[in-house]
Amino acid sequence: MDNAVKLEEGVWRVDPGMSAAFLVVGEESALLIDAGVGQGNVLENVRTVTDKPVRLVLTHGHGDHTGGAKYFDEVWCGEKEQLQNVEAKVNRVSEGFEFDLGGRVLRVLDIPGHTPGSIALYDEAAGLAFTGDMVSANPIFFIAGERNEDEFIASMDKLLALRADRFFCAHGQPVCGRDTVEKLKKAAALFRDGKLEPQKGDGPFPGAVYLSEDGVGFRVVEFKK
Ligand SMILES: [Zn+2]
Repeated sequence: MDNAVKLEEGVWRVDPGMSAAFLVVGEESALLIDAGVGQGNVLENVRTVTDKPVRLVLTHGHGDHTGGAKYFDEVWCGEKEQLQNVEAKVNRVSEGFEFDLGGRVLRVLDIPGHTPGSIALYDEAAGLAFTGDMVSANPIFFIAGERNEDEFIASMDKLLALRADRFFCAHGQPVCGRDTVEKLKKAAALFRDGKLEPQKGDGPFPGAVYLSEDGVGFRVVEFKK
């Protein structure tokens, strides 16, 4: 597990294995956004940055984000989300819920598409949002039974309507701009309409990859993880 890396004022990226987690530190408390696959103790990593009370919020329920929940007594997540491998107490939060860290507020937005209950954490004052697996320069997993192309497109519109120009991503480069969100919206419409050609998947991952000419797109898995 790598050490925490400071990305900007009050924001760190921690790498607890297979996906990035982000730590936001306010004046009173901190918020850990996702927890990695559970290799190494993500909470110890957090403690290299801050001694303040820390809550864990999960952008969605996939195991590469929830594994580190075992180091916490309770977690927060979206209302509709199914969580994999979480034994901690689960607090459900709906659209508009605010995590007030003292001098810094993160608001919950429902952004379904990758999974039915994916959420973003939006910091309006800083002009940024943490978007889990919904925004990435890498192919985004589209899993049968969980993906919804129309909801994905609506979620991209929702993100584009924010006063935000940085979107923090759990896979691939840690921060994307509005251009990536626009490209993903376009790619999702092309995929939905059957206008993207499948390319053979690579590496250890299952599924064919569908990329738009902008180079963004989806890894399509026809079974549930
Ligand atoms: Zn995921």
